[in-house]
Amino acid sequence: MRAFDFHTHQKKEADCIQNVILGQRIPETGYFSLGFHPWYLKQNWQEAFQTILELESEPRLLAIGEAGFDRIKGPEIIIQKEAFEAQFNLAYEWGIPLILHCVKGHDLLVEFLKNNSKSPQIIWHGWNLKPRLAKQLEDFPVSFSFGKAILEEDSNAQNWLKACPKHKIFLETDDSELEIDSIYESASLILGLSLEDLMALTEENWNRIARKNLR
Ligand SMILES: [Zn+2]
Repeated sequence: MRAFDFHTHQKKEADCIQNVILGQRIPETGYFSLGFHPWYLKQNWQEAFQTILELESEPRLLAIGEAGFDRIKGPEIIIQKEAFEAQFNLAYEWGIPLILHCVKGHDLLVEFLKNNSKSPQIIWHGWNLKPRLAKQLEDFPVSFSFGKAILEEDSNAQNWLKACPKHKIFLETDDSELEIDSIYESASLILGLSLEDLMALTEENWNRIARKNLR
């Protein structure tokens, strides 16, 4: 059993999905996700999009992302929507999840999902919004990845982790310097699940929604 880290910006070689922003170097070993982070999205993103298309048969590319919407930082929303649509469709076509970055864009995601029935599996990473907003996503293929915010007593992340359907749970370190073990330990206490069961749960959750299973 291992404490798999589903989204990290740390340079780790094993048991994780390292996030790569388009334009950054792809790691030589280990799983990775690749996409346009809205913060670094350029108007002429289509050119760089080719880089992803060339990786169709790369077995280590497990997910598209992190991609999504950010109303605080990044280019105009119209550009974010275009780039998101391209990545969303590609993830669907390839049968791999899309790791979502979403800041003040919950409504944009809902609107998008309502208009696109062919949706890939979406993992909303770093979830820390009210459980009420998570419930609005229950009819869509959206799961949640929890990170350092669950360590904070009574945070939105902690409250939703308690109520979230078990089959929609993932764990991550993201850009923090925490060890993934500490996230699993804390989640195991919050959920009342043994560490072993929790490790098995997140891996099963991945293997259920992704064409490329973890080995
Ligand atoms: Zn991230």
